[in-house]
Amino acid sequence: MKIIFLGAPGAGKGTQAEKTSVRLGIPTISTGAIIREAVKTGTEMGLKAKKSMEQGALVEDDVVIGIIKERLAKSDCANGFILDGFPRTVPQAIALEKMGITLDKVISIEVPDEVISARMTGRRVCSTCGASYHVTDNPSRNGETCDKCDTPLTVRADDAPEVVLSRLAVYHETTEPLKDYYKAKGMLEIVDGNGPVEQTSARTLEAIGK
Ligand code: AMP
Repeated sequence: MKIIFLGAPGAGKGTQAEKTSVRLGIPTISTGAIIREAVKTGTEMGLKAKKSMEQGALVEDDVVIGIIKERLAKSDCANGFILDGFPRTVPQAIALEKMGITLDKVISIEVPDEVISARMTGRRVCSTCGASYHVTDNPSRNGETCDKCDTPLTVRADDAPEVVLSRLAVYHETTEPLKDYYKAKGMLEIVDGNGPVEQTSARTLEAIGK
């Protein structure tokens, strides 16, 4: 299956994408994680993307489309994939279509902005493998290190309150129009993400038809 997860930052799409990926046995591709890794290792693309990311702005379409083209060409994507955080603009969605990719479902995970702002302060991430946790909703086993690779968990710089506000504004202005875009193609499924992680997972699987 080829699935896209849409949703505001902090709506839980990364968490749901990871769970769905394990359930369906297909990889999750997170452009945010790929860009964060490039920033960390200081590649040319990372240096270009760093400022936009820190300000809560989007990285240029060309850069992100290049990342996705390269990643989807890898053999582990042959049986399907989940895209977490791509596309985020209509030109990115058009680029995906031009790559000849036919999607099965577009899942939009929806949570009110006030709930998201509160959630963000509790988010913790693993800088080694990219896994995402939450201090109360989805904690790691010992609350301090990653369950998968034991790296101490940290707060993402772009989860700072002022950056969260601008990321929400960017979402409503630039990414939310994608809902209409995919609705018109009959692919959109709305999932209520305002509840416990397991409840959202159940709703997500139902929306995917699994
Ligand atoms: P995420 O982890 O998906 O919340 O992404 C973190 C940041 O990476 C975003 O705030 C953007 O700066 C950048 N980013 C990730 N995916 C995209 C995309 N599809 N288009 C543009 N920028 C992106």
